[in-house]
Amino acid sequence: MSFNNTQLQRLADEALNTGKACNGGANADYIPFLASVPSDLCAVSISCCDGTIIHSGDYDYCFALESISKVCSMSLAMQQKGAEQVREKIGAEPTGLPFNSVMALTVHQDKPLTPLVNAGAMSTVSFLDASDKESRWQMILDFQRKMMSQNVKLSNDVNTSEQETNFHNRAIAWLLYAAGNCFSDPMDACEVYTRQCSTLVSCDDLATLGGTLANGGINPVTKEKVIDPENVAPILAEMTMEGMYDYSGDWAFLVGLPSKSGVGGGVVAIVPGKMAIAGFSPPLDEAGNSVRAMAMIRYIANNLNLSVYSPS
Ligand code: GLU
Repeated sequence: MSFNNTQLQRLADEALNTGKACNGGANADYIPFLASVPSDLCAVSISCCDGTIIHSGDYDYCFALESISKVCSMSLAMQQKGAEQVREKIGAEPTGLPFNSVMALTVHQDKPLTPLVNAGAMSTVSFLDASDKESRWQMILDFQRKMMSQNVKLSNDVNTSEQETNFHNRAIAWLLYAAGNCFSDPMDACEVYTRQCSTLVSCDDLATLGGTLANGGINPVTKEKVIDPENVAPILAEMTMEGMYDYSGDWAFLVGLPSKSGVGGGVVAIVPGKMAIAGFSPPLDEAGNSVRAMAMIRYIANNLNLSVYSPS
């Protein structure tokens, strides 16, 4: 199926209206900064493989990337070590439990199962080849910029708010370390992980992150080759299994696109070879997924019959 830009713009505008009509959910408040973001912000952006970006709503408002940063660090780890090493050391299974669950670790001998929950993300950060904390951080920030744009930057406000309250994640890092599943100093891994969650991106940037994966690893805007093509399918498989937290199965059923969400209110969905759709709005459901972003992506995906499981 081919799509023209007029059709996509109409769908984006309709999706925005659909999203704005959803009133459920609440901002994440366990990170103080996130509780203060205006709840009525709402945006949708589509990144096409030819570099075109279609958008509607507050698409240039910059919000915290949060858990979606896990996709970038997982991709970087696959670039450095190969996809199979990431599967072996960290995993490729859904946890079926919340993203910061200690129980998910405990029942699996403190092995994280996937790079897309907090435990696996810190393990992934620690797995990267880096000589010290600052070079570990810099390579992650550089990679986020390559997948999105040079506009991506660390927010001191978000980072301070998270670093001062991330006690639960610090505990997880020590559990990983005790079991041999943290490959650097655990507090360095936790600090760098917290920074990677605290970068600010626009909905257009988020769509470009997905567009890089949809486009076989080449950033559709800058045309830079960021990810080797053989790593793209494993990245999308990990996203399918755990990208929408413990709602991933329902999301595969309802939408059928590898996706990732973050507690900052962003969600990005990838249509391999075609496009990526990003949604942003702060209020989250119980699982931690943005209610409006899901509604907007689902509207576009269902209208264009984009499920990867669809026969046509
Ligand atoms: N920085 C957040 C945390 O570690 C990210 C969580 C998320 O977006 O799922 O709790």
